[in-house]
Amino acid sequence: MTVLGKSAHRSRKRFGGILQRYVLLDIAWTETAGRIPVLEDAAIAESFWNILGDWESVRHADYLLELASVLFPQPGPKPKAFSLLLSGMRALSGGRLPRALARTAEAAFLSIAGFGPDLSSCKGCGRTDNAPFRFLFSEGRLYCKNCPSTGGVPLSLGAVKTWRILQSPSAPAKERIRISENILDELQIVIPVIPKYLEWCIGKQMRSLAGEVSAGKP
Ligand SMILES: [Zn+2]
Repeated sequence: MTVLGKSAHRSRKRFGGILQRYVLLDIAWTETAGRIPVLEDAAIAESFWNILGDWESVRHADYLLELASVLFPQPGPKPKAFSLLLSGMRALSGGRLPRALARTAEAAFLSIAGFGPDLSSCKGCGRTDNAPFRFLFSEGRLYCKNCPSTGGVPLSLGAVKTWRILQSPSAPAKERIRISENILDELQIVIPVIPKYLEWCIGKQMRSLAGEVSAGKP
């Protein structure tokens, strides 16, 4: 949401200079019909300042914020998306590999936002492991190697299984889930399918990371 912090920059006394990026704030505001809500009080609940120590983490933190605002543009509480964003910031601040986290966050945000995709089985025959699959953006579904389909991108069974795990909203918090470098390369470099599917769903390019996401650069 957008709130107006009256004299927030000058009023160090009032907000103590805490209105910065990468902090979780408890805030209080007042609303008047037809006007921008006014910030009344703010206190730091949790800070993620470690993010500032690493440029890649900064860029990916901004990417997470953009993901959240692009996929959930309507105002109002979004508890699942919020907890996903929060766990992502904690993970980045805790030194988690930024690009692994980005793929995890994309998959989980897409799933929460209702874009799926349904990776449970081949849409044609229902088999779950008849790889390689083809993934069709327009359907958000897989077709196995035996079933006719046109277009789409090829996905190995390993990539499909990894994507299934990443869709879990709690995935960013699970440090135990280790994405093997091979699969990560497959997802991000050889076939950067998750970010491409993401941009297909939202109908535009993400601004953070300056287009390198769908271009498939590491
Ligand atoms: Zn099939």
